[in-house]
Amino acid sequence: MSAERLTNRPAKHYIGGRFVVSRNGEYFEDISPSDNSVIARIPSGDSDDIDDAVASASKAFEGHGWRDVDAEDRGNVLNEIADAIDENAEELSVLEAIDTGIPVRQTRGQVARAAENFRFFADMATEISGQSFPFRGEFVNYTEKRPAGVAGLITPWNTPLMLETWKIAPCLAAGDTCVLKPAEWSPLTASRLAELIDGTSLPKGVFNLVHGFGETAGASLVSHPGVRLISFTGETVTGMEIMRNGASTLKRFSMELGGKSPAVVFEDADIERAVDAVIFGVYSLNGERCTANSRLLLQDSIYDDFVNAVAERIGNITIGDPLDEQTEIGPLIHPEHLKRVMGYIESGKEEGAVLLQGGRRPAGLREGNYLEPTLFTEVDNSMKIAREEIFGPVLVALRFSDEAEAISIANDTQYGLASYVWSRDIGRAHRVASALDAGLCWINSHNVRDLRTPFGGMKCSGIGREGGRYSFDFYMEEKTVHVSLGRHRIPRFGSSVRGGGAKTTGSSK
Ligand code: NDP
Repeated sequence: MSAERLTNRPAKHYIGGRFVVSRNGEYFEDISPSDNSVIARIPSGDSDDIDDAVASASKAFEGHGWRDVDAEDRGNVLNEIADAIDENAEELSVLEAIDTGIPVRQTRGQVARAAENFRFFADMATEISGQSFPFRGEFVNYTEKRPAGVAGLITPWNTPLMLETWKIAPCLAAGDTCVLKPAEWSPLTASRLAELIDGTSLPKGVFNLVHGFGETAGASLVSHPGVRLISFTGETVTGMEIMRNGASTLKRFSMELGGKSPAVVFEDADIERAVDAVIFGVYSLNGERCTANSRLLLQDSIYDDFVNAVAERIGNITIGDPLDEQTEIGPLIHPEHLKRVMGYIESGKEEGAVLLQGGRRPAGLREGNYLEPTLFTEVDNSMKIAREEIFGPVLVALRFSDEAEAISIANDTQYGLASYVWSRDIGRAHRVASALDAGLCWINSHNVRDLRTPFGGMKCSGIGREGGRYSFDFYMEEKTVHVSLGRHRIPRFGSSVRGGGAKTTGSSK
């Protein structure tokens, strides 16, 4: 599929079912990570466009709007969107690879997941239900879930389509309407998704898309009084800023933030499988993965063999054009991001870690944001490369002697998104999994997601959980209805007058 045909098309906002440019007439340039050439001009939205989009979303929600559409019918529309994604899967995969630098072999999986997100929540829509609470034999109390309103969805540039649909699908399944603000560095698949959605029977105005910068379009969405919810995925510091900006309109937030997730490998682990999983976990998606096992904790006795095995394997990883079927690592998203990651590599060297493998631009790739997969050893957990999220193909390896030390090092971080434990000792694996301060833990596995389970982080990695029914806890209000089953005693104020009290004048008979 030709890259030129897919890019260089006029990208637009999608507001109220119409494809429009910004009211201010401004654009920004979207560049290719492979050579940093301009591949598209994107309208740069601001508060006026956000006002229009929120007005459309509110109108589509209110009255006999999307919130009143039967759950099964909502599910049918979501399945139409899934079908549209599946029918255009190859085009979307190529477009995502061009725009993000993630190899097309991997973007195919993400596009398949995007469709799966819609199918999964299409089914879930009909399962939305409340709870009942029989009380003292005199009452039954029950809850009902109802759509919350207009949601603002703000997404990052890594795996954009997958993360956008992870929010849009439950939001629409819940009966909410939305405004999506995708990342400025990866806007293309969001635009294509809007075109595909436009071809389905989703009522106009239910889904809206406004491109633009975080500081303008994003911030306007967060502070807009017509928006009830903000589901945000991105960096921890951005999440903090967003919470401050949303405080004056009392937004409900779901925050999926950064990570520095440990993989803890004990000496009794299946080493071969652990090596495979650790390499895939940190170097796939070009290392731009929120749940990457970017800190490798190895028991002393296996440390040298393990790091040497990783170094040898990553020396053989195929780096190159994301559209090449053989490519395993493509270019990082943007030259600014490459510079940031290179800054961490310099910092690791300065702080005394051993650069065992990688750390340079690959030979023969003079253009684009390419970086060799990189491994630092003899890392101390106090070093910057062990404490901060690098968000690139950089793994840091630390040592531990026993279970207690492994847990202590693993938890000595501000983050708490994912964690991975490798051991054949069932008791130890479960003990360690339980002791780790992380929202997610995989035992003897890489990151394999079950969409029904809650996803989210502890500490500075996030607030709240999405996934399965947990998404509906965020996207819906829960109302409690109290029902009297008989004639329980009701206090009768004013029904008898004892001496001395003042009487009210007038009668209530
Ligand atoms: P950013 O936080 O820089 O940006 C995320 C989104 O927020 C972008 O759309 C951005 O716009 C927007 N934004 C920026 N500032 C504001 C603001 N003041 N108000 C409203 N919106 C704003 O994250 P990145 O795009 O750099 O993504 C990488 C980060 O995302 C990493 O930290 C990674 O760990 C995290 N992440 C977390 C996941 C999780 O599930 N926990 C999953 C995937 C990624 P713009 O593009 O213009 O900057």
